[in-house]
Amino acid sequence: MTMPENLTLPTRKLLIGGDWKSATAEERIESINPANGEVFTHIESATEADVDQAVKSARRTFENPVWRRMRPLDRGKLLERVAQLIEGQAEELALLECLDNGKPAHLAAMVDVPSAAEIFRYMAGWCTKLSGKTLSISGDGSQFHAYTLRQPLGVVGAIVPWNYPLAMAAWKIASALAAGCTMVLKPSEVTSLTALRLGELILEAGVPEGALNIVTGSGHTAGQALISHPDVDKVAFTGSTAVGKHILRESANDLKRVSLELGGKSPTIVMPDADLEQAIPGAAMSIFFNSGQICFAGSRLLVHKDIYDTVLAGVSEVARSLPIGNGMNQETMIGPVISEQQRLRIMNYIDIGISEGSEVVTGGGNGGQDKGFFVEPTILANTDPQQKVFQEEIFGPVLTATPFGDIDEAIELANRTHYGLGANIWSQNVSTCHRLAEAINAGTVWTNCYFVIDPAMPFGGFKESGIGREVGEEGFTMYTESKSVCVKLD
Ligand code: NAD
Repeated sequence: MTMPENLTLPTRKLLIGGDWKSATAEERIESINPANGEVFTHIESATEADVDQAVKSARRTFENPVWRRMRPLDRGKLLERVAQLIEGQAEELALLECLDNGKPAHLAAMVDVPSAAEIFRYMAGWCTKLSGKTLSISGDGSQFHAYTLRQPLGVVGAIVPWNYPLAMAAWKIASALAAGCTMVLKPSEVTSLTALRLGELILEAGVPEGALNIVTGSGHTAGQALISHPDVDKVAFTGSTAVGKHILRESANDLKRVSLELGGKSPTIVMPDADLEQAIPGAAMSIFFNSGQICFAGSRLLVHKDIYDTVLAGVSEVARSLPIGNGMNQETMIGPVISEQQRLRIMNYIDIGISEGSEVVTGGGNGGQDKGFFVEPTILANTDPQQKVFQEEIFGPVLTATPFGDIDEAIELANRTHYGLGANIWSQNVSTCHRLAEAINAGTVWTNCYFVIDPAMPFGGFKESGIGREVGEEGFTMYTESKSVCVKLD
């Protein structure tokens, strides 16, 4: 199936100043269905000149009183309206995500679409809470009145990856608009369709023209033009650590504000007292969901040596039981990975894992699929912490398994990578849970649960997993600047 019959594609143009425009380049980018490798449409490839127009449009709207002086309650109503429109299009958005990204449509309807709607609803509430503090400054208190003002940062250049195209775009747009910023969004060139549909819905909701602009195109042209544009005040980036580092270096030219949500190599730690009925499926799904293409996927299984064989056997059984295939089928749990290039990269990591001493206990193939970019859930056992597959982000359905002797060794192994995005802990002892949560260097620690992402819970990374926190109060204030005001009283 190339495209479901009842699915209409969004406008494949650039959204600039409220209008859909063609890019100035003739070259266009193919959209490929990962389930069969077929090209089903094309998107525009924005040039530096197109990005410049989009940034100018965002600047004009940022300075326009219609947006700048909009009543906070009215701004909140607009965001709530976007949430409702997303919910109204839930099925279509899920199908679009499946077509463009490969992920099972029923899982996109369960996770991606609600996540996008909920962040708009949550951030709608913050619009009325952009506030400062009165300050008790030292000296003669009767002489000065001092306070802080919290103000929108300005024009935001947002760049998002392909693994959660709609949700990642929504996180950034909702937070920035709630704070009163304007934005130029560049979706991933391999999955731009749901961001474009979101652009249509945002216009339909009545968000003023130019508050959100969307430029589709490649990272090295459109993305580079955005991160180096002198009139962009902040870059909000989600993607690989390598590109994140490049953005941070670029930002040094004019000290743009930068927030980075980057890669991960998160541990799943199973203590000897864990409830294995919960921990085994939890450990499996925290790596195999979305075919392992999750930045905080529990890609390193660390298991106490006394229960290592039992847990490994249990997780392998779950891995083998997950139906693999086209994401348009309701039964599919494992869809294709995003591209042939990514499939080859993952297979290469599996080979490296074997050559460096790991043993494949399940998976390693393409699940018997005759087309598309498939990788079976794969487990590499007895992985040594020195191995590449223990250290590097594979971003596919590949789990390494390593035994440990005691809690100190578990902590040491958990922290032995350059990343620090997430961690999953399984133990029924509350002291053990708190001790691990405190000691592990990660932005989020899930205890006896996994994959709980909520608009109220700040999300981000330690170490090379990023800088800053998205969503929650921190994700809102990240789009603001604080100003101190000191007034001498008569
Ligand atoms: P990527 O870094 O290759 O691309 C991400 C985005 O950056 C794309 O839109 C791309 O076009 C753009 N880009 C590439 N080069 C650029 C440049 N020179 N200048 C400006 N923009 C540029 O990442 P990807 O392959 O799309 O996504 C996978 C990565 O994203 C993984 O490492 C994953 O862990 C990470 N990720 C992190 C989070 C998080 O919240 N921490 C969430 C999802 C994905």
